[in-house]
Amino acid sequence: MATKYIFVTGGVTSSLGKGIISASLAKLLQARGFSVTIQKFDPYINIDPGTLNPYEHGECYVTEDGAETDLDLGHYERFLNTATSQANNVTTGRIYHHVITQEREGAYLGKTVQVVPHITDEIKRRMLLLGQTGEYDIVITEIGGCVGDIESLPFIEALRQLRWELGVHESVVIHLTLVPYLRAAGELKTKPTQHSVRALSEAGVQPDILVCRSEHPIPAEMRKKIALFCNVKINSVIESLDAETIYDVPLLMRKEKLDERVISKLKLPHRAEPNLDSWKEFLGRLKNPTEEVSIALVGKYVELPDAYKSIIEAFVHAGSANECKVNIKWFQSENITDENVGALLHGMDGVLVAPGFGERGFKGKLEAIRYVRENNIPFMGICLGMQCAAVEFARNVLGLAGAASTEMDPTTPHPVIAMMEDQKQITQMGGTMRLGSYTCELKKGSKAYSIYGRSKISERHRHRYEFNNQYLAAFEAAGMVASGINPDTGLVEVIELQHHPWFVAAQYHPELKSTVLGPHPLFVRFVKAAINNAKSK
Ligand code: GLN
Repeated sequence: MATKYIFVTGGVTSSLGKGIISASLAKLLQARGFSVTIQKFDPYINIDPGTLNPYEHGECYVTEDGAETDLDLGHYERFLNTATSQANNVTTGRIYHHVITQEREGAYLGKTVQVVPHITDEIKRRMLLLGQTGEYDIVITEIGGCVGDIESLPFIEALRQLRWELGVHESVVIHLTLVPYLRAAGELKTKPTQHSVRALSEAGVQPDILVCRSEHPIPAEMRKKIALFCNVKINSVIESLDAETIYDVPLLMRKEKLDERVISKLKLPHRAEPNLDSWKEFLGRLKNPTEEVSIALVGKYVELPDAYKSIIEAFVHAGSANECKVNIKWFQSENITDENVGALLHGMDGVLVAPGFGERGFKGKLEAIRYVRENNIPFMGICLGMQCAAVEFARNVLGLAGAASTEMDPTTPHPVIAMMEDQKQITQMGGTMRLGSYTCELKKGSKAYSIYGRSKISERHRHRYEFNNQYLAAFEAAGMVASGINPDTGLVEVIELQHHPWFVAAQYHPELKSTVLGPHPLFVRFVKAAINNAKSK
């Protein structure tokens, strides 16, 4: 069958959850047997979010093929259990970069290069790219930003053109809006939705389906009113109430028949009812925990939990797998000192030191690690968290005063974490880290091996600095072993403490591969270790 296209736009305000609605719809269609992928078009000028501070748009999500992408791609993967790629995230910057590069090459043969048609042509080409692979029955395109924003106009214009070119029944537009509740008036209000749909229509795009975010159920009368003013059928006014967890949203959308509306509008062949059994089992375990643990998340972006989105979700998956409620307690690493670390982390059943960049908060991370190492508290380190574990061990166990990562101290006498040779030549910041999937060989008999249950694994990376193998023998002699090594380069991927109940740290990012139906073994076993720790108190 020819690929069909679904476009998801947003209006009224940002943060309505287009990513979750897109992922939920994709899940329902996938559960009916369709092959689905989701892509995101972001209106900003950065080529990709790799150079953005996490405070801007939250975590940078890394795909198998090493693309640095928007965090919504993480939701797509967690919901669908399938990998995304470089092609799934496109920014205005990338579009312009391509067009301008072509212009310099003389590809436009003397023509004036313009937003319409050149930029919009390139947007349309990208919108169709994944569909042309033949791999997907349905491609969902989420358009970032809000209708009416100056910067998303070329995307909406490209969408207008593309809908006509594709023809009827080949695409649907779902517009996500807000139906606010005015407490003083005791009423839901439809006007912002009307205005938002009008703005979209003025740009030449009539939405087929409206998904209305609301804190209260939208009564039939009000749906009728929205339908009347917005040129949609009443059964295409879908209510999206605040959910207990994002993982409830597919079931809520199923109840509202969003998938059925889409199938009928696209004239898709009717397939079986969606099979959501394993999804429901996941939710059942998540909502009926028999255990409870508190896990400290030590990082420097803790004021914005979105900066650690995949880690939070990996704990949700691992919590469900263990039938355990995982309470994440946030610790700003800048505030942790050798004096207060005991008081702060006392009572935590496990501690995770997060990924990150730069000096700020580095010392606090080392203090947290010293505390958990000495007090037998389960510990997991990710990327910078692993590098901190190496530095802490070097300083406090091996007695290498001033040991550091050259990222924090370029002139350290003991560079236990240092930059790889090929990284030293790099001058451009964007897209030049060690990115994406690499294989790793786990040592038989190690904790890491017992966690994964196999020796060959593959995990995703995003870093410039590495464990310095000149120090490996000294580390191992003192009980910190490298249990995971990249077989091609010899780079250390996992370190673990031998004489500790659970101390495992990885140079890669396990959180990026945890999904609802495939909770990550490291997180699952870390939560289990925290449960055991809680019980032993
Ligand atoms: N700053 C460290 C590096 O570049 C760690 C990066 C990370 O935690 N993602 O190697």
